[in-house]
Amino acid sequence: MARSLPRFHGQIVTDDSENLHVSTDVLIVGGGPAATWAAVAAAESGASVTLVDKGYVGASGVAATAGVGHWLVPPVPERRDEEISRRERSGGFITDRVWTEAVLDEAWERTALIPEWGYKPSASPRGPGSLFGARPGERSFSGAAPDYLRFLRGKVKKSGVHVLDHSPALELLVDSNGTVSGATGYQRQVKRPWRVDAGAVILATGGTTWKSHSLGGDVNTGEGHLMAVEVGAHLSSMEFSNFYGMVPFGTSMDKNGFFVSASYWDHRGEPIRYHDLHQSRAELLGASLRGTITAQFTQFDKEMWPALRAAMPNFFMVTDKLGIDPFNERFPMDWVQEGTVRGTGGIHVLDYEASTGVPGLYAAGDIAARDRIVGAATGAGGPNLSWAIATGTWAGRAAARYSAKRGLPTSFGGEPSGTLGVRGRGAVHVADTVRSIQSEMLPIDKAVFRSNDGLADSAARLDRLWESASSAPNVEYSGMDAIAQRESAGMLAMGRWAVRTAMARTETRGMHTRTDFPDTDSRQAHRLLSGGLNDIWVQPDTELPRVGITLAAQGSAS
Ligand SMILES: Cc1cc2nc3c(=O)[nH]c(=O)nc-3n(C[C@H](O)[C@H](O)[C@H](O)COP(=O)(O)OP(=O)(O)OC[C@H]3O[C@@H](n4cnc5c(N)ncnc54)[C@H](O)[C@@H]3O)c2cc1C
Repeated sequence: MARSLPRFHGQIVTDDSENLHVSTDVLIVGGGPAATWAAVAAAESGASVTLVDKGYVGASGVAATAGVGHWLVPPVPERRDEEISRRERSGGFITDRVWTEAVLDEAWERTALIPEWGYKPSASPRGPGSLFGARPGERSFSGAAPDYLRFLRGKVKKSGVHVLDHSPALELLVDSNGTVSGATGYQRQVKRPWRVDAGAVILATGGTTWKSHSLGGDVNTGEGHLMAVEVGAHLSSMEFSNFYGMVPFGTSMDKNGFFVSASYWDHRGEPIRYHDLHQSRAELLGASLRGTITAQFTQFDKEMWPALRAAMPNFFMVTDKLGIDPFNERFPMDWVQEGTVRGTGGIHVLDYEASTGVPGLYAAGDIAARDRIVGAATGAGGPNLSWAIATGTWAGRAAARYSAKRGLPTSFGGEPSGTLGVRGRGAVHVADTVRSIQSEMLPIDKAVFRSNDGLADSAARLDRLWESASSAPNVEYSGMDAIAQRESAGMLAMGRWAVRTAMARTETRGMHTRTDFPDTDSRQAHRLLSGGLNDIWVQPDTELPRVGITLAAQGSAS
C-alpha cells in the first residue's frame, strides 16, 4: 500500500513484500564520501533525495575502512602554486590548474562546515613542527575514517534523505528522449527488487579494484561505470587504472602513509632506490617480480613512533599481530591492486556540475576520472577525498536544479538500459569470468609492465569473454545472482577499457609503464578519452591540460 515518510518529501509508490517503488527528485547511487556529500548538497538545494548503497552507508566502500586525509590548501596564491606545481610534476603534466583550483576552493569551503555540523575532526589545525609539518593558517582534516563516515551518515539522515542500505543498483532507467530518469536494483536483506523514478541521477559507486581484496574495495566492481557508458557517457584516463597498494606480506592492510618514504631492500638484501612513490612504484614493483622485498620505516625518529601508532591504529594492529616492529626491523611486503580507486581513470565529467553529458546523469568521487587534478599519478593522500567533496557538492546542486525543471518522476516512463549481466540480456558466468578477468588485471607483470603484445593478448581474451557472455542464452536469474552477474559485467567492461586505453598510450607516464616505450613523449601530454561497449574507442581529449609550465620545459622537469 502506498504511504509517505515524515521527513522524506519524495513519494513511496509501492512498498510491499514483492516490490519497492519510489519517486524522488534526485537519486544517488553509492554511499561513500562522494555520495553522502552529494546527498547533503541536493537536499540543501531543496530536492527530495533517495540514496541507495550496495552496503550499509557509513561502513561500506574504501573510505569507511581506509583514511580520510583531505587535500586542503588555503586560497593563498603562493601556497596554491606550490601545491599545484608539485601535483603537475608528479602527474606527468596532464593536469589542469583551473580545475584543480575549483576543487581546492570547494573542498576548502565545504570542510569548514564540518565542525559547524557538529563533528570534531581528530586532527585540528596543524601547528608548526607538528607531525605533518603544516604551517599556521592551514587546515588539515584527517580524522578516523569510521567516525567520519558514520558522521556523514547521520548528516545525510538529518538532511531528510531517504536511505536504502544493502540495495545495489543494477541498471539505469532512461526516458524516450534519452534522459536518465531513475534506476532499478535489488534489496539484499529484504530480498525484493526496487525501482526509483527520479528527475536526475548521481552515480557515486567508487572506483574498481577487480575484487583484489584491497581494504574495503571489493564492493567497487565497475557496474556504475558500465551503467553510465550504457547510456552514452565517456571515460577518461583509463590507462591509469593500475595503482598498487603496499601491504605487509600476507595481509590486505594497504594503508600506505608510512610506506611512501620507507627504506626497501630486494630479495638479496640490496637497498632499492626509488624516485616518487606517488608518481610511480615501478622500481619497487619490478624488484618484487624478482623475489620478496622487505621494508622498514627508517624515516621516523624514535620520538615520533607513539604518535605514528596513534595516527594509524589499524595498520599497527596488523603488524603487532604478525609480531613485526616496522620501525626496528625489515619486514616482507607485498602488493594489492587498487585499480581506479587510487588510480585515476573513470567517467569523464564535463564541467563544475559534474555532468556526464548524458541528460539527467552526474558522476561524483572515484567513479569520475581524477586526471585533471592528479594526472597520471595517484589521487591518494588527499586529492581523491577533496575531489569527492567537490564533485559530490557540484553534482548534488546541479541534479537538484535539473530535476526541478522536470515534471513528476513517475510520469517519465523510464525504461531499463542495462546490457550485459542484466536479466534477459546476456549472462556473465560469474566465478569463471571473475577469475579470468582477474588473471588479466591483477598480476603485476601484466598490469604494471605493459607492452603492446601483452596488452593485445589481454584485450583479445577480455573481448572473447565479452562476446561469449553477450551471445550466451538469456538466463533467468534474480536476487543475489543478478548482483553477481552485474558486478562481473562491470569488472569485465572496466578491464576492456583499461587495456585498450593502455595500448593507445605508447609512452611511459606516471603509473603507466610501457616496456616497449620506456620514455615520456611530450607529444602525448594529453588525456585519453574512451568509451563504447561492443566496440571500444580511444581518442585524445581535445581539452588540453592547463599546466603552469611549457611543453619544452616539461622534459627537464619530469
Ligand atoms: C587504504 C586506502 C587509504 C586511502 N586513504 C586516502 C586518504 O587519506 N586521502 C584520500 O584522498 N584518499 C584516500 N583513499 C582513497 C579514498 O578512500 C577514495 O578516493 C574515496 O573513498 C572515494 O569515495 P567514493 O565515495 O567515490 O567511493 P567509495 O568510498 O569507494 O564508496 C563507493 C560506495 O558505492 C557503493 N556502491 C558500489 N556499487 C554500487 C551499486 N551498484 N549500487 C549502490 N551502491 C554501490 C559502495 O557500497 C560504496 O559505499 C584511500 C584509499 C585506500 C584504499
